[in-house]
Amino acid sequence: MKIFDNFYIYLWQGRDNNCNACLLAGVLKGGRHLLVDPGHVRTPSYREPGLEKLAREIGRDGLDYSSVGLVIVTHGHPDHCEAAAVLQRETGALVAMHRADEEMFQMLGGRADIYLQEGTLELANGSKTGLEIFHSPGHSPGHVTIYWPSRKALIAGDCIFYRSTGRTDLPGGSHQALRDSIERMSRLDVECLLCGHPYGHPGFIRGREEVRENFELILSYL
Ligand SMILES: [Zn+2]
Repeated sequence: MKIFDNFYIYLWQGRDNNCNACLLAGVLKGGRHLLVDPGHVRTPSYREPGLEKLAREIGRDGLDYSSVGLVIVTHGHPDHCEAAAVLQRETGALVAMHRADEEMFQMLGGRADIYLQEGTLELANGSKTGLEIFHSPGHSPGHVTIYWPSRKALIAGDCIFYRSTGRTDLPGGSHQALRDSIERMSRLDVECLLCGHPYGHPGFIRGREEVRENFELILSYL
């Protein structure tokens, strides 16, 4: 689904757990696309074809999934990055992630091509994305969030959901770190926020007021 310009979101609608994805079309050299969090290849309980479905939806938007040149994974949990390992093998897309979560990705057969660090995302081939990377640990040690200042958009992964947050009881999780990460995100100027999952809500929050209210609510009980 196109949100604006070259920004597309893919909100998961299956029965099983899987993540929301998004795509920035044509931002890489040669007009290739940047994809964030492709999710599961197949969901664990109902065996829903997550990657196939995502590829089909991207195709419906008039884009070619085989033209994805870079996959950013917000963190190393399989429901966000299992399909990244397949894309890496099948389309030659590079995978970018934080080093602290790479071991989880390696267990799925992937490897990081680019280690994400705090700051503006600059790619060696001269592609300019205008994205800012924030290291946002708490849900996992190497979780990153992606901020697009010119469009006031935040891709929050499993830091922030609609009226809730990611869990902190998985290996490497930390309640305090999550709170600090969310507090930091709350100071950004955000008009649309993509959550990592459609929990109790599609997971795309639009409008500065709505985003602010969501931050206030979750910070009040964290
Ligand atoms: Zn997760």
